[in-house]
Amino acid sequence: MEKLEMLYEGKAKKVYRTSDPDLYVVEYKDDATAFNGLKKGTIIDKGIVNNKMSAFFFKMLEDRGVPTHFEKLLSDREMLVKAVKIVPVEVLIRNYAAGSLSKRLGIKEGTRLNCTVLEFCYKNDELGDPFINEDHIKAMGLATEEEVKVIKEYSLKVNEILTEYLLKKEIILADFKLEFGRYGDKIVLADEISPDTCRFWDAKTMEKLDKDRFRRDMGGVEEAYQEVLRRVIGE
Ligand code: UDP
Repeated sequence: MEKLEMLYEGKAKKVYRTSDPDLYVVEYKDDATAFNGLKKGTIIDKGIVNNKMSAFFFKMLEDRGVPTHFEKLLSDREMLVKAVKIVPVEVLIRNYAAGSLSKRLGIKEGTRLNCTVLEFCYKNDELGDPFINEDHIKAMGLATEEEVKVIKEYSLKVNEILTEYLLKKEIILADFKLEFGRYGDKIVLADEISPDTCRFWDAKTMEKLDKDRFRRDMGGVEEAYQEVLRRVIGE
C-alpha cells in the first residue's frame, strides 16, 4: 500500500489517496481553528494526540460492535482508514450543558442534563453548520430514514461505551461530535474522536481538558491534550 496524492485538506487533517482504492491515509495536523475558522492557531503535537486517541477509541468501539473507518495506525500522525463518503450531517451528543447549548437555551455550563440530548447539524462551512432535524435530513436527501436510525443507534452506543470508559479515568464526557461515512451500503463511524471534538472535564475538579482551552484562551492547551491522552491510553 502506497500513499499517493492528497485528496482533501481540512482544518485539522489531510486525506491522501493510496494505491488501494478502498483505503485512504489520514494525516493529523497541529493546526487549530475555532468559531467556524475565525480563530486560527497551532497546538503543538495535537496531531499526534488526536491520531493516537482516535485510533484507540475506534479500536475499542469496533471491538464492542460499532463499525468504524479505522484500519490501523501508520505513524505518529497517520492512520489508514476505509475510503468512505462522509454523510454531511454532524451528530452532537450531550450529557452536560456546555458551549452552544448553554448559550442557546440559557442552561448554566456544567449542568447535568436529565437525559442525553442528540442533535444534528448540516455539515456546511458556508452556512456555519446550522442545526437541523430528521425531517430536514430527509427533505434535503442527506441520508435515508434507515441510515438516520443506524446513525442514532451507533451514536448512543458510542456515548455509553466512552462515558463508562472515561469515568474510570476520572474524566467526564460532557459532549462530543461524531461524523459517519458510507462504505459500500454500510454506515461506519468516521472522522475523529479527540479533544478537538469532545468536551472532556476532570471528574473531580471539572477542569477543562479539551479544545475549549484554545477557544477561550485559557492557557495550558498542550498540557491538557497530553494529560487526557495519558489518562485515556495510559501513556
Ligand atoms: N463540535 C465539533 N465540531 C463542530 C461543532 C462542535 O467537534 O463543528 C464538538 C465540540 O467540540 C463539542 C460538541 O461538539 O464537544 C458540542 O459543540 P457545541 O455545539 O457546544 O459548539 P461549540 O460551543 O463548540 O461551538
